[in-house]
Amino acid sequence: MAIQNVMVIGAGQMGSGIAQVCAQAGFNVKLNDMKQEAYERGIANITKNLSRNVEKGRMTEDEKTAVLGRITSSLDLKDAHDVDIVIEAAVENMEIKHSIFKTIDEVAPKHAILATNTSSLPITEIAAATNRPEQVIGMHFMNPVPVMKLVEIIRGLATTDEVYKTIEEMTLNLSKTPVECNDFPGFVSNRILMPMINEAVFTLQEGVATKEAIDSIMKMGMNHPMGPLELADFIGLDTCLYIMEVLHEGFGDSKYRPSPLLRQYVKAGWLGKKTGRGFYEYN
Ligand code: NAD
Repeated sequence: MAIQNVMVIGAGQMGSGIAQVCAQAGFNVKLNDMKQEAYERGIANITKNLSRNVEKGRMTEDEKTAVLGRITSSLDLKDAHDVDIVIEAAVENMEIKHSIFKTIDEVAPKHAILATNTSSLPITEIAAATNRPEQVIGMHFMNPVPVMKLVEIIRGLATTDEVYKTIEEMTLNLSKTPVECNDFPGFVSNRILMPMINEAVFTLQEGVATKEAIDSIMKMGMNHPMGPLELADFIGLDTCLYIMEVLHEGFGDSKYRPSPLLRQYVKAGWLGKKTGRGFYEYN
């Protein structure tokens, strides 16, 4: 199936990045959010990224204008009536994703593929909210989307080979590298990454070291580009907590229990870079 028209749901840090790379690859994109301000923030973020590309000589001013011209705003899921694919990147919450997929299933054309950028929620359970589970698939982009090459592609129990192949091809058209995995809590990336971040928060909570020391040890000792606490701030502490809860519930194993300090920061609204404060403070 040839994909031309895309709807991205959620104009936050992931959704705006996905909209940008889709528009750069020549797709027409409707960028949907429930809030006009979120859409405007998303477009401002895309414009900033594209302007940086122009400054660095990676793109001309005309190309930037053309990319922005391929993105239109949407505040109503009914705008999915003429798209070939929906990529959902709203918050990491099953109830919200279920409600979005139920509505989208009613309004999107029969041939449309419904993809989710979930970090950890079961694709099969999201697909169960629709009457087309064979056309539902996980398309897990990494943050920041314009920079990171990997897209973890997750098949739900019913996902067909044809749908998988279409998504694999689309991912290659976005100049990204698809890697396939099965539908298990946290998939591969977050099953391994999040327990490490959670352990770093426990280490901070227990006073083993300062946040700066924990990050320095992991950066210099393990050759990681970012320390785990810095990375948690970048991902969003609410997203980190949701993922730990999914792992905890999905495996029923106490080794995945979220750190109380992580819970406390989320309750305080200290969600990391996006709110100006997490483990570190941002301007
Ligand atoms: P975010 O908080 O930056 O953005 C979420 C956006 O979704 C907000 O603009 C919000 O207004 C919008 N939204 C919420 N409910 C909506 C609805 N019903 N309809 C339309 N829009 C709605 O979050 P994010 O970091 O961009 O994460 C989005 C998704 O991507 C989550 O599922 C997350 O797990 C996943 N993800 C995140 C990362 C990361 O590093 N942050 C990486 C990979 C995947």
